[in-house]
Amino acid sequence: MDRRRLSRIVFLFLITGLILALCACGAKPQTRIMEVTSYCGCGQCCDWERGSWKCLKLDFWNRYITKGPKAGAPYSGLTASGTKPREPRPGLFSVDSLVHPWMIPVRIVLFPWLFLSQDGTIAADTRYYAFGTRMYVPGYGCGVVEDRGGAIKGPNRLDIFYKSHHEALQWGRRKVKVTIYP
Ligand SMILES: [Zn+2]
Repeated sequence: MDRRRLSRIVFLFLITGLILALCACGAKPQTRIMEVTSYCGCGQCCDWERGSWKCLKLDFWNRYITKGPKAGAPYSGLTASGTKPREPRPGLFSVDSLVHPWMIPVRIVLFPWLFLSQDGTIAADTRYYAFGTRMYVPGYGCGVVEDRGGAIKGPNRLDIFYKSHHEALQWGRRKVKVTIYP
C-alpha cells in the first residue's frame, strides 16, 4: 500500500470524526463575553490546609477547609457536584489534530488513552448554569460545569480548572467569548 493512499484514509477518517464531533455539540449554541479566572487543586486556590490545630498540626496528611461555612471540615478534593476535577484534552477527532498533525500518531499509537477527548472542569454560578452545562472557552477547550466558587457569582463569571498552579497563574484573568451549548 502506498503512502498517499494511507494518508488519504487517515485524512478522511479525521474529517469524518471532526464533523461527528461538531454535530454532537448540539444545535444553537449561545455565545457570551465572560470574565474567566482559573484555579487548581492546591490549598491556595481551594482554601484548604494540611493538619488540624486539634491534632497540633501533626496530622499533615489530612486536609481541612480553611474558609467559608464549612471551615474546619475535612477537604475531599472533589468538585461541588462530587466529581474529580479534570483538565480538558483535545483527543484524536479535534481541531488540534489538524493544527498539530504530529499529535495524530501520538494519540493513536504511543498514548492510546489520548485518543478520546475529555472535557475540563468549570466552576460557574449554578443559578444560571446548571451542573452538566457544556461550554467552550477559547484558549482552554471544552468544559462542563461541575463546580461552584465563592467569588463565582452572576452569569458572566467562570473559573476553569488546571492541574498545576503554574498553569492556573498563566491564565490569570481573561475576558473571552464563551460558547454555551444547550
Ligand atoms: Zn493553585
